[in-house]
Amino acid sequence: MTDTWHQRSAGEVLERLATTAAGLSAGESARRRLESGPNELAATPGRSPLRMLIGQFTDYMILVLIAAAVISGVIGDLADTIVIVVIVVLNAVIGFFQEYRAERALAALKAMAAPTATVLRGGRPVTLPASELVAGDAVLIDAGRIVPADLRLLEAASLRVNESALTGESVPVDKITGALPAPDLPIGDRRNMAFKGTAVSHGRGLGIVVETGMRTEFGRIAQLLGQAEDPETPLQRRLDAFGRGLALVVLVICGIVFVTGLLRGEPALPMFLTALSLAVAAIPEALPAVVSIALALGARRMMAQHALIRRLPAVETLGSVTVICSDKTGTLTANEMRVEQYYCDGAAATAPGSGPDWDLLLEAMTVSHDATTDEAGFPVGDPTEVALLVAARQAGRHRASGDARLPRVAELPFDSGRKCMTTLHQLADGRTLSITKGAPEVLLARCVRECRGGVQAGLDRPVLLAAADRMAADGLRVLAVGVRHWPGIPPEVTPGAIEQDLDFLGFLGLLDPPRPEAGPAIADCLQAGIVPMMITGDHPLTARAVAVRLGLQDAGAPVVTGAGLEGLPDPELDRLVRDARVYARVSPEHKLRIVAALQRQGQVVAMTGDGVNDAPALKRADIGVAMGMAGTDVAREASDMVLLDDNFATVVRAVREGRRIYDNLRRFIRYVLTTNSGEILTIFLAPLLGLPMPLIPIQILWINLLTDGLPGLALAAEPAEKNIMRRPPRPPGESVFARGLGMHAVLVGLLMAALALGAQAWYVARDPALWQTMVFTILCFAQLGHVLAVRSEETSLFTLGLLSNRPLLGAVVLTAALQLAVVYVPALNALFRTTPLPLPDLALCIAAATVILGAVELEKWARRRQVPSATALATGR
Ligand code: ATP
Repeated sequence: MTDTWHQRSAGEVLERLATTAAGLSAGESARRRLESGPNELAATPGRSPLRMLIGQFTDYMILVLIAAAVISGVIGDLADTIVIVVIVVLNAVIGFFQEYRAERALAALKAMAAPTATVLRGGRPVTLPASELVAGDAVLIDAGRIVPADLRLLEAASLRVNESALTGESVPVDKITGALPAPDLPIGDRRNMAFKGTAVSHGRGLGIVVETGMRTEFGRIAQLLGQAEDPETPLQRRLDAFGRGLALVVLVICGIVFVTGLLRGEPALPMFLTALSLAVAAIPEALPAVVSIALALGARRMMAQHALIRRLPAVETLGSVTVICSDKTGTLTANEMRVEQYYCDGAAATAPGSGPDWDLLLEAMTVSHDATTDEAGFPVGDPTEVALLVAARQAGRHRASGDARLPRVAELPFDSGRKCMTTLHQLADGRTLSITKGAPEVLLARCVRECRGGVQAGLDRPVLLAAADRMAADGLRVLAVGVRHWPGIPPEVTPGAIEQDLDFLGFLGLLDPPRPEAGPAIADCLQAGIVPMMITGDHPLTARAVAVRLGLQDAGAPVVTGAGLEGLPDPELDRLVRDARVYARVSPEHKLRIVAALQRQGQVVAMTGDGVNDAPALKRADIGVAMGMAGTDVAREASDMVLLDDNFATVVRAVREGRRIYDNLRRFIRYVLTTNSGEILTIFLAPLLGLPMPLIPIQILWINLLTDGLPGLALAAEPAEKNIMRRPPRPPGESVFARGLGMHAVLVGLLMAALALGAQAWYVARDPALWQTMVFTILCFAQLGHVLAVRSEETSLFTLGLLSNRPLLGAVVLTAALQLAVVYVPALNALFRTTPLPLPDLALCIAAATVILGAVELEKWARRRQVPSATALATGR
């Protein structure tokens, strides 16, 4: 049946679907939804909790460990086996809960990113989740929309749709409304239909939903394509590669430990178990998973701050952003336009004057905008257009009566490339009036006369341009209005035919106050070594006034215009973008060139955008940022992040959060690698020093569980460092192991091993009953001393304060208590082969932990002394 919709007339379609052009009632729509199900593509099922849990055990090393433990239990001590299995299970459970939380955070993000549709309910537009559409719903579409279901079009005003998602054809298709009788038309030729998943590139239209969900054309091919997996982030890829290399090293060391054990006459099976436990404990196989968990949970925190992450790697990239290119309107400004100044009949004024020209200007303001009102009479629509509606209303003119006097017969929608729009209206005497409004210089170039005192007069362009510049220099967005009378309905309604030979009517100066948060956010950027830039379609003088007000640049600094970029060769553009901060009268195509030029300079660029034509630049930017409120579906689809509040300050907050998450990942990696290197070195070096095997398998696994578990996780709760937005962005190519991380892991690991082995050597000779418990407890406590110290790479723990990360403090106390239980609870002594330590010996273990803490504090102190010069170097870019 799908094939026949295009063949039917609009009337037949409405009749067949028992609906009207004013849409279904909410009740009827809900009833139909019960029958047809949601308008969604069948999603690939997510990972079930059970699969996630099983996934924790599928690591090859863990399986071998469990098998070896079971075998050794069968021939030897069953209690050992049980403890080993319990520890491994506990470890898996912690991993499972983390992953489960992350998965839920991601599901919530996906739900937030779900598309919406504008449908008519009793003729009034209402916004709904697109999944609620049913056959028979009347849907409004306009430029920038992704079509939410298969529609048979009833209205199409210059409607053009890019159907490349469906047909591969990238030239947009002009849509029509009449029936197409041919039965077997290919999709691309069914021009009276708009298909789900395709993008409206121009104009607007109204269509009746004919198919939803998997029954749409898009649904059919979606079935064929399946869904792509989420890609790994660069950090995950790097850690994966690193982890594989490290695993090899660890396995070799474990092999050596095993062989030297055998040579020294240790029994094979327990020795094998020891080597295996060491491998399981020391191979950081969970690092990539930890990264995705940290990113997912970070994305959830960002959502609470109105930044919706669409692609997880963006969280990681945000931390290294060096340039933020922002739109002006609505992002740096409040997007609450109001008409503040008028110019008509040769004079500027703050309120409309009287006379035939003023009357025509007010009439134009009343009927030529596309803003509407909601049920409560509240204006909705593009703020520029809303400003006209409100100003007309204040002058006592209402749209309904305006439309009765001057019914609209055709229109040429606004386009940010053309920078103007036109509406055509039927006059009572049979003539047609076209009203064109747009950027002053664009419009004046198309005017040939001026309306003065109710008659057409000669046009004095320089005087008018100067009047517009005066408004723009006050930071106002200036619209020029021109009119033209036609004998009847013009035969050709195209910009080329209609938007010329106009009579200039007047200027409107619209004020859009800066957002109160924007100035401070720009100051934050500058402190953080991030360059804020403004890229606007507005007039250079308007742009400059707003930029100066926001502290983005000085009054004397130049403003680059789109015209200035036109035809500029790449090398010169590269030079230009190094210093430019404000771009004006820029079209979306220029944005793409600006991003590319900045990236050639090695910058990591976040760029905001809202329109259809912004999509290529958003895709190209390292972080494409779309507007959640004012933006189009197409821009959102192309973006990495959506600003739910359209606010520049939110981008800066997201960058800050990105930096915090990256810092915390580095902390975690630093901590885990050092823990592992301490354990490995202790066990590896002992036999070389002629000492017995320091730890038994259970002890190795216990240290791993205790220290990687709670304290490791609690590191993620570390608040942002105070200077997080006062240091330069991390260099884009920098490795996670940069700035001495690898060296730290080796040296601190060595120190831990030295302390443990020193105690072992001392006690083996003097107190054979205690030595193993000492080594075990020293290694455990040393991790706790370390975790407290690595909370910052530079700031001392005494400056941070113990209480500033309470979850971590709690984790440390709990872990210490568990270790003490293992040392002092008699039942556990048997399981863990421990002996209660006399107090002085326990004090020695605590002292060892303090040595580690002190050593790392010393390292930080040394770094603090170096840092000022390092910062200066980095910011002096
Ligand atoms: P920003 O970057 O600040 O968000 P923008 O790039 O969205 O601005 P556009 O919306 O492309 O800017 O507007 C460019 C120019 O087109 C404006 O300066 C104005 O003169 C004109 N203009 C904007 N909106 C309309 C409209 N609805 N009707 C007619 N002209 C408009």
